Amino acid sequence: MVEKYRIVIGCEIHCQLTTKTKAFCACENKYGGMPDTRVCPVCLGLPGAMPRVSKGYVEMGVVAGTALNCGISRFTKFDRKHYFYPDLAKGYQITQYDIPLCKDGFVDLPYIKLPQTSQPGGENYYDKTFAGDNNNIDNMYKRVRVERIHLEEDVGKSLHLEGKYSYIDYNRCGTPLIEIVTKPDMNSPEEAALFMETVQEILRYVGVTNGNLEEGNMRCDANINLTVWEDGKEYHTPISEIKNLNSFRAIKDACAYEAKRQLDEFINDRQPFDPGFKNTMGWDEVNGKTVVQRTKNSFVDYRFVVEPDIKPFSLSEEFISENAAKVGELPEQKRQRLKKEFGLSDFDVETLTSSKALATWFEEAAKDSKDVKKTANIILAELLAVLNEKEQTVTDLEITPKHIAELSNAMAENKITSKQGKDVFAEMMETAKLPSKIIEEKGMVVVSDTGAIENFVKEVIAENPKAIADYKNGKTNVVGWLMGQVMKKSGGKASPKTATELLKAELEKA
Ligand code: ZN
Ligand code: MN
Repeated sequence: MVEKYRIVIGCEIHCQLTTKTKAFCACENKYGGMPDTRVCPVCLGLPGAMPRVSKGYVEMGVVAGTALNCGISRFTKFDRKHYFYPDLAKGYQITQYDIPLCKDGFVDLPYIKLPQTSQPGGENYYDKTFAGDNNNIDNMYKRVRVERIHLEEDVGKSLHLEGKYSYIDYNRCGTPLIEIVTKPDMNSPEEAALFMETVQEILRYVGVTNGNLEEGNMRCDANINLTVWEDGKEYHTPISEIKNLNSFRAIKDACAYEAKRQLDEFINDRQPFDPGFKNTMGWDEVNGKTVVQRTKNSFVDYRFVVEPDIKPFSLSEEFISENAAKVGELPEQKRQRLKKEFGLSDFDVETLTSSKALATWFEEAAKDSKDVKKTANIILAELLAVLNEKEQTVTDLEITPKHIAELSNAMAENKITSKQGKDVFAEMMETAKLPSKIIEEKGMVVVSDTGAIENFVKEVIAENPKAIADYKNGKTNVVGWLMGQVMKKSGGKASPKTATELLKAELEKA
């Protein structure tokens, strides 16, 4: 009888970097375009062509490694990994074998984003290796160790058309990649997906990748097996490597399917665990199944050798510290700081930090704001709605953070009502004029003059005998409607606070 089991997952993420040129030649590094228009003898691997390491490539590698808490090698080199496949014209890939650029890092997954089953007291299938203070859920993380990050070039792209023809586009070959290899520290499909999401966010923040999954900027291979406890004994199922998962959804679904398949296989047709071999699989998204590509018996020897055309090289302390300094504040640190500094909710902070550009924009606005929560609300409720509708980001805006701060301050200081605030916002988005200018031009001022408002209140009461009668009969919800009438009479300028007080007082008397 199987008593319990634990899912064990390790990931290898290939991530394309945004350097100007390809890894070892001067071809432009970008996505798409006419096939075979960005190729040269080096990236095509023509005999005699000499590769040269792009400086930007190593720089970005150091930035990425630092952001993922790795140590950086002071001495490193490139190697050749041999295999034969049509998308690899050279017959080998330039990669790093035994001395990766970065080693021994980690990524902390925020505890609050983990699935319910990973919580303490939940199912005990999950590992509970947490860093931080166990008493405060905000400070709790699940740590996933990063074994290594190495540099390697991407290969070309195979296109299969009409089910008949296969083409190869070599534009992508030689594109600089980092490969991030983790320890088997993830214990659920959701954790594996969250890991990829967290890495994507961090590497975007530090500006080394576009992280665009649709364009294949990040691809994940998941190594998965189970630890099973049966009749007091512990077993391990054979490891499957599921290749090329290119969305969070695919990672989650593929790992969930494979875990279930391995458990069924363990129960029905037990295979001995052999740590030296694994099944290589693909994910069939259409049928929702993992598909065996290579079985554990077909071990591949890559015949690694040192890349003879690139001299092993050392990195100076200056080079490393200069690039490590580019990392700056990481998204999770920023979230914690914004929560503490401004008392914003998890949800608001999550949205405001969803991109570095938006977070920076918000912080600029917050700097000049008297009421930061109000400023956050204008950005979250009004500004993002407009941006979403236009499919734009803050970088497309004509207005500046100063505009939002001014608008927020005018409302915080009761210079204008929130209704007027909406009008100012609309006008500001249209014309990019500063709120102070719009308020002046439109003659918007809040009327807090008690005498004037009292007159509006009296008029409204006199004009609406039926509503007053309803009120006296206990229909207190007419107050809201009456307030609306008072605001209308004042042209939206009455101070809502004063108007409410006066209306209530007059209703008592009526
Ligand atoms: Zn090239
Ligand atoms: Mn690789």
